[in-house]
Amino acid sequence: MPPRHVYVHVPFCARRCSYCDFAIAVRSRVPSDEYVAALGRELEVRALGSEHPVDTIYLGGGTPSRLGPQGVARVIDLVSHRFPPAADAEITIEANPDDVTPDAVAAWRTAGVNRVSLGVQSFDDNALAWMHRTHDSARVGDAARALSGGGIDNWSLDLIFALPATLGRDWAADVERAIALAPPHISLYGLTVEAHTPIARWRERGDAVEGTEDAYEIEYLHADRALTAAGYEHYEVSNFGRPGLASRHNRSYWTGASYVGLGPAAHGFDGAVRRWNEREYAAWFDRVAVGDDPIAGLETLSDENRVAEQVYLGLRTTDGLPLRASECAHVDPWVNAGWATVTDERIRLTSTGWLRLDTLAASLTMLRSR
Ligand code: SF4
Repeated sequence: MPPRHVYVHVPFCARRCSYCDFAIAVRSRVPSDEYVAALGRELEVRALGSEHPVDTIYLGGGTPSRLGPQGVARVIDLVSHRFPPAADAEITIEANPDDVTPDAVAAWRTAGVNRVSLGVQSFDDNALAWMHRTHDSARVGDAARALSGGGIDNWSLDLIFALPATLGRDWAADVERAIALAPPHISLYGLTVEAHTPIARWRERGDAVEGTEDAYEIEYLHADRALTAAGYEHYEVSNFGRPGLASRHNRSYWTGASYVGLGPAAHGFDGAVRRWNEREYAAWFDRVAVGDDPIAGLETLSDENRVAEQVYLGLRTTDGLPLRASECAHVDPWVNAGWATVTDERIRLTSTGWLRLDTLAASLTMLRSR
């Protein structure tokens, strides 16, 4: 399968957010030139390229907006030479509100960016400080105005829910403030405590660092009600979009499409084999500098893996999963509980069902693997 999607990992962040276990490189000054040159080396070393136009290019991180307007333009230029974007390609950059100014937006648009994913997380300054975010809530409005005023109509806003009750964060108020900014797309992330993060250390010393399971469910379902009432389609477990504005890049992951991953920690998939690069920036950089493929590992999907992925990914979205006649009795309790619907021989989870996705995915996978 020729790749239709390209992911570029830009690892630089000003500091590590308290919940973050992503592959990042904390830098006060971003080595844009060095990074772009290394990315070019990776494309050469791996002899990557395709004549088939790609549908999406996604600069994720880390904080790609910290590359600066010129750095972003050079990355897109570099990638586009090897993977020409289709005329209607979706080209996304993840950005922190701090970096979204009218000048930056204008430069990104000139470079071809037509979608921005904005890491907002909350409008509560106390919660933002606890999360180690670099922006405050006032900055978010400025960023939203810069995007709309600069002609980037397709943008997404990230929010984190299930924060510890001790912070006193008002989730309903945050959802309302997000809706008031009218982003075409909103992504939700429930706080989880990952190893080697600041909040994992705080938990070890006995601090409350996450909401309860009840709070998780209550906040998730509140967002579902408020956002769908405001006209958003809840099209995937964590994602809401105005009609027609679902993330095309992320959809590629959920449908098993092939994609290329560039940069430290980036994963790629060719339809059969998944590969991933060296996770740490220095290790990735050193490998490409001496002309080595920066691969750290690969995995050929077994039949069992493939079944598990098809089931799990199918259940994640409103596209649903084709249901076999022999599975109808198995999913009846889910339908009766209001956690799923079955129409046109497909099962689709409801919002309350998505809270139990892992359980159904595991049992259906087991049935299909017998
Ligand atoms: S900005 Fe994003 S990638 Fe960087 S530390 Fe924070 S959550 Fe992690």
